[in-house]
Amino acid sequence: MDKDNSALIEALQRSEKRFRSLIENVLDVITILDKNGIISYESPSVERVLTRDGARIDADFVVVGIGVMPRTGLAEAAGLPVDNGILVDAGLRTEAENVFAAGDVANAYHPFAGRHVRVEHWANALHQPVVAAQAMLGKDAVYDRLPYFFTDQYDLGMEYTGFGGGEVVVRGDDREFVAFWLRDGRLTAAMNVNVWTGVPEVAQRLIRSGARLDPAALADPAVPLEDMTA
Ligand SMILES: Cc1cc2nc3c(=O)[nH]c(=O)nc-3n(C[C@H](O)[C@H](O)[C@H](O)COP(=O)(O)OP(=O)(O)OC[C@H]3O[C@@H](n4cnc5c(N)ncnc54)[C@H](O)[C@@H]3O)c2cc1C
Repeated sequence: MDKDNSALIEALQRSEKRFRSLIENVLDVITILDKNGIISYESPSVERVLTRDGARIDADFVVVGIGVMPRTGLAEAAGLPVDNGILVDAGLRTEAENVFAAGDVANAYHPFAGRHVRVEHWANALHQPVVAAQAMLGKDAVYDRLPYFFTDQYDLGMEYTGFGGGEVVVRGDDREFVAFWLRDGRLTAAMNVNVWTGVPEVAQRLIRSGARLDPAALADPAVPLEDMTA
């Protein structure tokens, strides 16, 4: 477990107690085909997982990550560059004239990040096609929105924005909190859980500013986020 993430882990562990009672009611033994080797979660309390090679790993809690693999076969067959998705420039153009890619499958050059980024979220799939369409029309369009998603899990609603990575600072308690990721004192991402005060907008401004932030002030709910130096 990453020491930098201890505050976030503590918040998740507190939340997990409530999920545990739900899991006990719903699951007996789930068997999944996981390429990383976990084949079952042993219930009723999800105290350990069983891997393909027979190892039993004790677990305080289990985070199940369900995602997708970019389906790039068509692009590969067409000879387009593919690396963790179809490689496109900031205007969602592939190397082939008049061929574009957007959404989950696109690994797009992101001007702010300064690298290619592939995002598997609804907001990206919603907004990238607009830029692709503009580029198709010959406009000098660039997709530079910061990654964002929202999701609702039972009575927890959350929003996340940014690229993530770095030290985690948490403001709030286990039911309502904001986690901030800081690298060299600069905000890289924020996730608000059951907090609906426009955190993503402020966080995006802070991320883009590159300003150094005081972790103690970030962790203090009495300090308005809007007052952070930016
Ligand atoms: C379980 C799950 C939960 C999620 N929850 C959230 C959430 O809470 N919040 C959030 O922001 N995002 C969430 N997402 C992600 C979100 O659903 C995706 O980011 C979004 O749907 C991507 O849209 P897309 O149009 O890029 O791709 P898709 O929706 O995958 O559409 C691609 C389409 O192309 C078709 N296709 C592929 N290859 C070919 C081919 N060769 N020929 C013809 N058609 C082809 C596919 O069949 C598919 O219909 C979730 C995803 C999953 C799987």
